[in-house]
Amino acid sequence: MKAEKELQSHYQGGLEVKIRLQNDELVKSLSGWLIESSLPSRWHFYSLIIKAKAEQGGAIILCERRPNDAWMATLMSKWRTALCTAALSIVHTFVNQLATPMIPDWEQISSELVPLAAKGDWIRSIDEALVVCSSCNHYMLSNWESVRNVAECPVCKSDVFKFLPAVIAPAAKEAILRGLLMEIAVAKAIVRVGGVLFKRDLGQLGEHYVSLQFQHPVSPVELDVIGDLQDTLLFVECKDSKPSEILAINELELTASKVGRLMKQLGDFALSQYKKPARLLFVTTGQLHKDLQRSDLKRGELSDVPCYVVDQSQLTRICDYLIEVSTS
Ligand SMILES: [Zn+2]
Repeated sequence: MKAEKELQSHYQGGLEVKIRLQNDELVKSLSGWLIESSLPSRWHFYSLIIKAKAEQGGAIILCERRPNDAWMATLMSKWRTALCTAALSIVHTFVNQLATPMIPDWEQISSELVPLAAKGDWIRSIDEALVVCSSCNHYMLSNWESVRNVAECPVCKSDVFKFLPAVIAPAAKEAILRGLLMEIAVAKAIVRVGGVLFKRDLGQLGEHYVSLQFQHPVSPVELDVIGDLQDTLLFVECKDSKPSEILAINELELTASKVGRLMKQLGDFALSQYKKPARLLFVTTGQLHKDLQRSDLKRGELSDVPCYVVDQSQLTRICDYLIEVSTS
């Protein structure tokens, strides 16, 4: 009995954390940045850099004007000999970031993130920043704002490169580590295209709209996001996987059967108010297996519910895909 109570209070505690994160302004801000479709590489940047830093720690080095690799290699070798460790460490971190398998568009992404980091949004400035002359290699370590304001080399008046360290805000980091960030982003996308989320208002705690749990006689069913969009009831399963990871057919089948079970039960809980055909949408930061054809999924071979997939190549246009699925 005691163990049962402890388990219950543990679950309750977990739920409170989830709800706090769903309603956190910085988490919402990162989600909003991800679903704006203007820049194709945002989701890549999220998977390869933001998520990796959330998991492993360490700073992200923003750099609005990227020096070439040879220039940085020469500079690092010089600094290694001269034991300029602080400056070396910043450029070293930056070079490692660029070595990730698919290099996001650093200059454009950095230009977007520097103002956010400066004001302390979901990404925020830390430590000293570095400015290096592109010509005479004169460098200076100073506070963020001073470095941002340097227009030219004080010695030779040449152009400069600026390296600005930033970290992910704790709440955004926690949402990523708890696997909620992508769900919150997709929920935001549903609302953006005019959908209504299935959610519970828990008063002071806030709104609960992702990682929804439903009771089922066999075992509880958890669904990431449910949205009422156009003529359909959209069930979304998010898979925040590594970009190289391939979504397997058995994973799709498993979720499809889960949704199928839930659909049979519709009369038993709050969803019964929605008398609309259901669609199941998988959203993944990974890739779709080449044998999985979209048309096969739509035919409903996995379950009674038609399935659709949005993979990493289509995430940029998530809002368009939501409309497409809900009207198909
Ligand atoms: Zn100079």
